[in-house]
Amino acid sequence: MRILETLYFDHQATTPVDPRILEKMMPYFTEKFGNPHSADHVVGWESSRAVADATAQVAALIGADADEIVFTSGATEANNLALLGLANGRTKAHRQRILLSAIEHKSVLAAAEALSEQFGYRVEKLIVDAAGRVSLRTLEDALDETVLVVSVMAVNNEIGTIQDLRALSAAARNAGALFHTDAAQAPLGMDIAGISQHADLLSLSAHKMLGPPGVGALFVRREVQRFLKPLIHGGGQQNGLRSGTLPVPLCVGMGAAAELMGSDEMGNAQTELRARRDDFLERVRGLPWTTRLNGPTTESRHPGNANICFPGFSAHDILSALQPTLAASTGSACTSGVPAPSHVLKAIGLTGDDADASIRFSLGFDTRDEDVEDAVDLIARTLDRLSTAAAVARSA
Ligand code: PMP
Repeated sequence: MRILETLYFDHQATTPVDPRILEKMMPYFTEKFGNPHSADHVVGWESSRAVADATAQVAALIGADADEIVFTSGATEANNLALLGLANGRTKAHRQRILLSAIEHKSVLAAAEALSEQFGYRVEKLIVDAAGRVSLRTLEDALDETVLVVSVMAVNNEIGTIQDLRALSAAARNAGALFHTDAAQAPLGMDIAGISQHADLLSLSAHKMLGPPGVGALFVRREVQRFLKPLIHGGGQQNGLRSGTLPVPLCVGMGAAAELMGSDEMGNAQTELRARRDDFLERVRGLPWTTRLNGPTTESRHPGNANICFPGFSAHDILSALQPTLAASTGSACTSGVPAPSHVLKAIGLTGDDADASIRFSLGFDTRDEDVEDAVDLIARTLDRLSTAAAVARSA
């Protein structure tokens, strides 16, 4: 995909809205503008029906029921609602430990940290292997009757690791703990049909799955809902779990995105995406510089993710030199600008220097073969320029 003259290789930061989805959203900004909570007239009923349809579409994507879906402003809020909401609603005082994988998104890490500071919860990070995986053994060793909730993301946003949710959630439940998964990167990254079976709470974000920014959802298993306390109080919408007037166009967009993600065209799209990502990697490996793929093997990671270390280079220099021709990123966009090395790359064992030399390229369904060729060409020219500049600086 090209935006003006920029090749976009940052789909894990956000995806463009699919035009078919945008078209479905448009009427809800103008002629179908009713407040879905206006119960006294037909304009409200129409909006309310649209929200109900969208809720059903999101539920269907993950194999849940509509009454188990709570719309939020995105995955950040969904993750906060899951962890803070459970802690606030806790009925068993002895469950004061929270287990997280060491490579969670900042919105999970920071929410858990807030619980530790404000309420004295003990937050423990589960180590991961070089591929970013939490082993069943690691989790089982940490579990006992003092654990309130385990949170392990379905697909990592930096290195594309896909976790074994089935095994991890079963272990958590055996110990009487609840299991939350941040599945924001899962719709493009894996087959998520029926994924809700393996979680008590699950977070989604529309702008990671060809839907609009500003909306997400938290799946809360029906039996768990009574343990969850809301973070936002008000008119009691969404069964009192998250008050506030629902943004109908955004909900409709998220529903349409969920429908698309669950459709037959997804299987092919993921296969093609994987093939393009593999082609991209092969071409990068063919360049006359040392490169290393960080994280899991190509078969067992998000099909669009390639996190590559360019030893001896600064990722920041490469990315700056690539502007405005190619958009990629170091780690997650949410933490870009913060100079600390990626906690994910550190957790899988990279040195600070190698982490600082690593770039996440994330391809999307709209990436074409020629985009891959052009991107690798641009990277080669950039590395060449930076190497020459470094050699000149050394000899000066
Ligand atoms: N979790 C993961 C794994 C993510 O990649 C992101 C987005 N970077 C988020 C949570 C936050 O999602 P949102 O932008 O919808 O708040």
